[in-house]
Amino acid sequence: PMPRLNAVISRLDLRGHRLSRADLRDSLPRAEFDMDDALGVVAPICAQVRERGAAAIAELSEQFDGVRPAHLRVPAAVLAAATDQLDPIVRAALVEAIDRTRTVHTAQLPAEHTTTLGPGARVTQRWLPTARVGLYVPGGLAVYPSSVVMNVVPAQVAGVGSIAVTSPPQRDNTGVFAGYPHPTILAACALLGVQEVYAVGGAQAIAMLAYGVRDADVDCPPVNIITGPGNIFVASAKRHLRGVVGIDAEAGPTEIAILADETADPDHVAADLVSQAEHDPLAAAVLVTDSEPLARAVEAALARWVGATKHAERVTTALAGRQSAVVLVDDLDAGLAVVDAYAAEHLEIHTRDAAQVARRVTNAGAIFVGTYSPVSLGDYSAGSNHVLPTAGTAAHSGGLSVHAFLRGVQLIEYDEQALGQVADGVVALARDEDLPAHGDAILARVGGAAAMAGVG
Ligand code: NAD
Repeated sequence: PMPRLNAVISRLDLRGHRLSRADLRDSLPRAEFDMDDALGVVAPICAQVRERGAAAIAELSEQFDGVRPAHLRVPAAVLAAATDQLDPIVRAALVEAIDRTRTVHTAQLPAEHTTTLGPGARVTQRWLPTARVGLYVPGGLAVYPSSVVMNVVPAQVAGVGSIAVTSPPQRDNTGVFAGYPHPTILAACALLGVQEVYAVGGAQAIAMLAYGVRDADVDCPPVNIITGPGNIFVASAKRHLRGVVGIDAEAGPTEIAILADETADPDHVAADLVSQAEHDPLAAAVLVTDSEPLARAVEAALARWVGATKHAERVTTALAGRQSAVVLVDDLDAGLAVVDAYAAEHLEIHTRDAAQVARRVTNAGAIFVGTYSPVSLGDYSAGSNHVLPTAGTAAHSGGLSVHAFLRGVQLIEYDEQALGQVADGVVALARDEDLPAHGDAILARVGGAAAMAGVG
């Protein structure tokens, strides 16, 4: 990007360049945070939790969150108190978000299906919920009761029996909530019927869920899968412990890309860039447009919006960072090539025929179509899921859904006759692979006396 004096956001002019997808990927802005550097911090944290359990977690909370909760597991009375003091307006909004999210995620449930391959030959595809899952709800720079909804609802819809939620302890909480996660996070858990909630954040929370922790004060059995967004330490810990435990996608510092033409409203575009920059100084905001007048109007609008916003410092850092830019392209096709190469977590389409343009996108975590479907809507109450793949991983992973909590298991049911029909083929393939005992296992059933004699 070419730095311009006093610019809120830098510009990258790709007009006249014909770049391959790989070259585009290299030239597009992206955060310089290094997962390997974070791993150097995170790996010893995970090892400590594995070796010393609750004692290590308490020390790490004190070090990174500035507070040591009275109990790692939030007592039931504190969850109840959080529900009691919940603002009725926030409660109604949470209930609405839960309802819409549940409706959309219920429609995702795959049906069990049996395929008949001939008389007496059936394969049935079943979908079984994971037994126990751990859901991470961020709570460092901001607190995310919405992430409780986005993680818990798909797990419940999938039929998961045992759900543990964990979120960082809050230094500024007072009264009964002192040292526990934000009261609205606790209330959201209680509203959803989740009673197992831990006051643990960061890499230590991921390690606790992966290895399990058992001690006088806390009994957290290991989980099968961990999902949920988080900062670089959380994302890096999930990468580190993948294998010990199942992991959803990598959902790290947030990103928004906006594909816009001259019909876009510069204030809507600027407001949405700022809204995602508000998450994190590492958040990325990228505008891709073929209209220089729009680019100028958005830059001017950004200066106004940034001046007026509450978290101006964080927003300014994120917009000025090398991960954010206004990218100028020749035309819509070039813009589509750029957004596909970038594979944004969130992609907004502010163009003519936005619905048709959206259908041409091949890489994005979620696509927000038209000016009245902003990312903020999806962050809370669209019904869609806001736990989405970041850092380009949208090229190979999707957002959180019921599928993360289901495993496909096939039932294979053949009778004697059906096995006989395919026996010659299996035996031939087994011989060809030089695994004749495989063929013998078939012939022992359907090959008659001669085959049995051959085996014996
Ligand atoms: P967080 O809960 O992810 O991280 C806070 C924890 O980080 C602390 O509890 C602490 O243990 C640990 N930590 C902080 N500094 C550390 C250090 N120097 N060394 C080791 N550990 C340290 O909360 P956050 O920081 O507010 O980050 C939330 C992130 O989640 C943001 O980047 C936001 O964009 C992202 N997010 C992403 C999605 C998504 O779907 N991709 C959704 C919501 C939020």
